[in-house]
Amino acid sequence: SQRVVIIGAGIVGANLADELVKRGWKDITVVEQGPLHMPGGSTSHAPGLVFQTNASKTMTNFAKYTVEKLLSIEKDGQSCFNQVGGLEVATTPERLEELKRKHGYASSWGIEAKIIGAKECLERYPLLDPKLVLGGLHIPSDGLALAARATQILIERTAAVGVKYLPSTPVTGIERSNGRVTGVTTPSGSIPADIIASCAGFWGVEIGAMVGLQVPLLPLAHQYAKTTALPSLKGRELNNNINGMNAALPILRHQDQDLYYREHGDQYGIGYYGHRPMPVRAADLGITGKHVDDKNMPSRLDFTPKDFETAWNESQKLLPVLRDTHIADGFNGIFSFTPDGGPIVGRAPNLEGFYVAEAVWVTHSAGVARAVAELLTTGRSETDLAECDISRFEEIQLSKEYVSETSQQNFVEVYDIIHPLAPKLSPRNLRISPFNTRERELGAYFLEVGGWERPFWFEANAELLKYLPAKWQPVERDAWTAQHYSPISAAEAWKTRNAVAMYDMTAFHRFEVSGPGAEQLLQRLTTSDISKTPGSITYTLFLDNQGGIKSDIFVSRLENDSYQISANTAVDFHYLSQAAHLQARQSPSHYVQVREITGSTCVIGLWGPRSRDVIDGVSTDDFSNKALPYFGVKKATVAGIPVLAFRKSYVGELGWEIQTSAEYGQRLWDVVMQAGKLHGIVAAGRAALNSLRIEKGYRTYGSDMTTEHNPYEAGVTSAIDMTKSDFVGKAALELLSKQVPKKQLRCLTVDDGRSIVLGKEPVFIDNKATGYVTTAAFGFTVGKPVAFAWLPSDVAEGRNVEIEYFGRRIPATVSAEPLYDPSNSRLLV
Ligand code: FAD
Repeated sequence: SQRVVIIGAGIVGANLADELVKRGWKDITVVEQGPLHMPGGSTSHAPGLVFQTNASKTMTNFAKYTVEKLLSIEKDGQSCFNQVGGLEVATTPERLEELKRKHGYASSWGIEAKIIGAKECLERYPLLDPKLVLGGLHIPSDGLALAARATQILIERTAAVGVKYLPSTPVTGIERSNGRVTGVTTPSGSIPADIIASCAGFWGVEIGAMVGLQVPLLPLAHQYAKTTALPSLKGRELNNNINGMNAALPILRHQDQDLYYREHGDQYGIGYYGHRPMPVRAADLGITGKHVDDKNMPSRLDFTPKDFETAWNESQKLLPVLRDTHIADGFNGIFSFTPDGGPIVGRAPNLEGFYVAEAVWVTHSAGVARAVAELLTTGRSETDLAECDISRFEEIQLSKEYVSETSQQNFVEVYDIIHPLAPKLSPRNLRISPFNTRERELGAYFLEVGGWERPFWFEANAELLKYLPAKWQPVERDAWTAQHYSPISAAEAWKTRNAVAMYDMTAFHRFEVSGPGAEQLLQRLTTSDISKTPGSITYTLFLDNQGGIKSDIFVSRLENDSYQISANTAVDFHYLSQAAHLQARQSPSHYVQVREITGSTCVIGLWGPRSRDVIDGVSTDDFSNKALPYFGVKKATVAGIPVLAFRKSYVGELGWEIQTSAEYGQRLWDVVMQAGKLHGIVAAGRAALNSLRIEKGYRTYGSDMTTEHNPYEAGVTSAIDMTKSDFVGKAALELLSKQVPKKQLRCLTVDDGRSIVLGKEPVFIDNKATGYVTTAAFGFTVGKPVAFAWLPSDVAEGRNVEIEYFGRRIPATVSAEPLYDPSNSRLLV
């Protein structure tokens, strides 16, 4: 096996060593700057509350595995998890609704959970003030991780089978040669390595800097305090010495006041997120000294009592017994926050053999470690890593300013009720398309993704609502689904289907792949034959070696050795770049250049039955079906502006994506808008686009399908060409094509024609949660809400199902797809 060096012996590093040992790897060294019995990182003082349920399926899976594993780690007859259950209480009606939504996540991701009334909350937790609590979410399998103990046991058991641990040994450098890691530098010499996994917790930034890798996490202090003994709890039987086993009541969250609680024998532990963000620079904490004890470690700063005053008052309100106590001890403990709240996991884009697993809570630690071990040993994690991938960030999101501001905001909002579409309020306008001025003039409502401002609808189109035919009238929405929504989208959809609309498609990733090795590279990485003549577009997939979908992309051949790729995320760019780099190394004459051109270009999606009238009015080029058939691309001019016209559509109507370089963008917008006036053109936004694409059956990568799905399950087999010679994932597909898929992405329509869902809701069949919604929208053309959902593949079309939405069941039907224009008659004209 390969020589592995793990940096850091916290809960993540120790778990990774263990997961690698489990998979038969032998040559593993763990280097830890602190002493082994108490390394002094975040794990050394973690109170260890494990609330498993999360909006993210990936994170919930990580938590489920962590619980399973901690339960299995035993010593002296005791495991490392005290399964006391978890209780999140609501003291406001809004929170109670939010807990119902969370109950939906639990059902979607396979965690047993129950919404309970105030009375049952009090039965389960008699210390609560009955006047305050409206209800709660109870999760029996949640509980307390004995994180420090688990770490020690993992260290012992892996050391016993040959893992080398080097305590009090700081890593001071990463050794590299030819783009690969070769070892780590320490004061006692070099340690050679083929693979380095940085599990350095909030020191991750410093380790990253050693190899020029920006690790976008921010260490923040977070207050945790212990009370004096509660007279009413004194002398209970459970006074176990092992921290974590000395509790019997469920772990408790009071998110309306940013608080959480656990017992420590007859004392209470109180954690608080309501104080001002207190950022820390790990480099300023220095290297962990030889002497570390539970009061004296780098991850533990002095308590600032003033910041805790509100927490203490609110705690005494929620748990009146605390009035008989005072704060005995407190500290400001440090751990990592990130710009989007996810951990930072995976291979560094800039260095072969360098991996990270940082900004990981105890809750997710074993799950993340397992995923990294899978990545190292098989090349793929069984759990989708898109929300954790270190490569997921856009360049702007890696800047110190961005990381600092957004991570602090995530600290502030960690327990807040946040709508899934809610944009950041700041920083904004980081990336704007050349059409932005015009979009503002039209009253665009912008939402932000990846730093890009993307119009969702245009207030200027409000006028159109007056003329909207009855069949197109949008339904009334409840207060939740009405957020970040406007009925104007219905009018924009109507115009797209019946006249013509222009969409700003600039924010979609575009790469140029060129050079003598371009065809070879793309043939190897994609599932389709992309050796077609220049001028053709191919919809195709990146797969992993097990047939999991890594991305869906469009490959447009512009010249013999020049392609343009329309892709989904920054991860795609790093994947292509790394593969190009490797190919050039193996075969220098087949070098390939991969260039990100998203920001230097811009794109208008001109779509609708009258789009050809518009383009013919402003271009002297031939845009007939013969001259530029569906899935064709060509150079043209539009009012003299050089453009590339891609004959494809994300809404299922005739039209083109018209691309030009950024400096011509505003003029392109103006001339198309001007030429379109005669034909009733409107600018249209993402909300209409999303509705139209779902009706048409087009999937969104990342939400509808991920690496956890193969093309047969996801219904994208049209993107596979098995006659092509070898490509990544082909061998897996050969096997998969002979099997009946277990699950399938299906189209649901909502029976009452009006109940809207937003995504991630559980789907029930015969009262059993059997699947979950991925993306959903009101289908303006079909006049009812439409959703994609993962369901067992034996669920037949026409089957009645129920979607749980805020605790309510919404009847829906599994429908044949696409709902709109199955014969593509609108596209092929
Ligand atoms: P760490 O435990 O910090 O381990 C990293 C290790 O790397 C350290 O031991 C460090 O010494 C070592 N290291 C760093 N740099 C070097 C170097 N150059 N050379 C060698 N070694 C190096 N999470 C939960 O899930 N539930 C909770 O209830 C919870 N409560 C918390 C309460 C507080 C007050 C705090 C501060 C955190 C809490 N957390 C909780 C978060 C949790 O503690 C951490 O996310 C988790 O422990 C991180 O584990 P780790 O192994 O990644 O990092």
